[in-house]
Amino acid sequence: MEKNLYDNVIACIKNAADILGLEEKDYISVMYPESELKTTFPVKMDDGSIRVFEGYRVLHSSVRGPGKGGIRYHQDVNADEVRSLAAWMTFKCAVTGIPYGGGKGGVCVDPTKLSRDELERLTRKFTERIAPVIGPERDIPAPDVNTNGEIMAWIMDTYSKLKGADTPGVVTGKPIEIGGSLGRTEATGRGISIALREILKDNGVNMGDVSVAVQGMGNVGSISAKFISQAGAKIVAVSDVSGGIYKESGLDIPGILAYLSQKRGNLLSGYDAEGLSRISNEEILTLPVDVLVPAALERQITEKNAADVKAKYIIEGANGPTTPEADDILAKNGVVLVPDILANAGGVVVSYFEWVQNLQNYYWDENRVNESMEQLMVKACKEIFDLAREKSVTLRKSAYATALKKIVATAKLKGVV
Ligand code: NAD
Repeated sequence: MEKNLYDNVIACIKNAADILGLEEKDYISVMYPESELKTTFPVKMDDGSIRVFEGYRVLHSSVRGPGKGGIRYHQDVNADEVRSLAAWMTFKCAVTGIPYGGGKGGVCVDPTKLSRDELERLTRKFTERIAPVIGPERDIPAPDVNTNGEIMAWIMDTYSKLKGADTPGVVTGKPIEIGGSLGRTEATGRGISIALREILKDNGVNMGDVSVAVQGMGNVGSISAKFISQAGAKIVAVSDVSGGIYKESGLDIPGILAYLSQKRGNLLSGYDAEGLSRISNEEILTLPVDVLVPAALERQITEKNAADVKAKYIIEGANGPTTPEADDILAKNGVVLVPDILANAGGVVVSYFEWVQNLQNYYWDENRVNESMEQLMVKACKEIFDLAREKSVTLRKSAYATALKKIVATAKLKGVV
């Protein structure tokens, strides 16, 4: 039987506690989510019918600050997944040192089957249901899979109307016109390319000498591909839900990005260029490349395919793309894996800057945003690479240990436990 995703979280926490030499009483509270809201809500469809949807908002921890984490719209959303994603946010925020706990939300829906009006009504209804548990000082959502700035604008507007006051700080990842931060849309991908640059530097490898495959060409994958190729690496394969494309001599990333953004719904299956081979989403993971960036969904690299991974470096763009069993196989084979809670933290770091700007009502220029994010990413990379070396553990174990140490220290000072 497949294990729950949350079991993976527990395993990571216990492992980090062992590295730090903690007793169970020091960290037991971190193993449980603080609160979970499950809601069902009706939405009027364009044809006049009513459909009932299921949604969640989980606050995993508020020890280091308000909850922070995205909202996902996907047909596979369930309590275990949202709970796990919320916990990962707690650790991700602690890794970079930003003053947040972790939260996550989701609605079980395939948004591609809804019209724009239906999506707006669904979002507003869901917001009404989660309004009591979110807020700028409580828990702050952001975009995740299949949600975007427009959806954040609807959440902000609904929440503001309920509170009777304009409240931009209730969500991040908003459009610039309504209080979004410059640099936010590109932040996760920019951060991933920084994490790649730092791990290559740490191993004495030049960005210009590596070939890269990126699974998933949504917000995270496509922007990662853009920055990684701009930094001089050769992207030889990319994929999305429709499958992948491969060209050993390197893909035309600007051309692919232009095609994908031309029209809502454009997928790689509709893109063509000379010399491309079509590959599956399974094949992209085991290509002969130097670097693999899984940037789609969780549980892509498992015990079934981990031994076939040929990449020397994996930079986790997605949350939870590698199972613990796969982690062990990759580590045994000497694959260096930069874990999600470090690699894709650039997004939440700039979300933090967006929230700070909203609270102060003072807006930064893009250089300040990008440079401040880079500083935090480089610092976090160094801290985690150093601890991994000191303790002779993987980067994932080192990242969890770094984060758990900060969470436990704060909890102790506050007298939480
Ligand atoms: P997105 O919806 O913009 O993109 C998802 C991409 O994955 C799309 O290209 C889609 O076609 C592809 N995809 C879907 N199912 C697939 C499959 N079975 N195989 C291969 N590709 C598939 O989502 P996103 O915001 O880019 O998020 C991707 C991952 O990154 C998620 O795990 C998310 O939690 C994580 N993440 C997102 C952010 C952010 O700022 N958006 C930040 C940190 C982590």
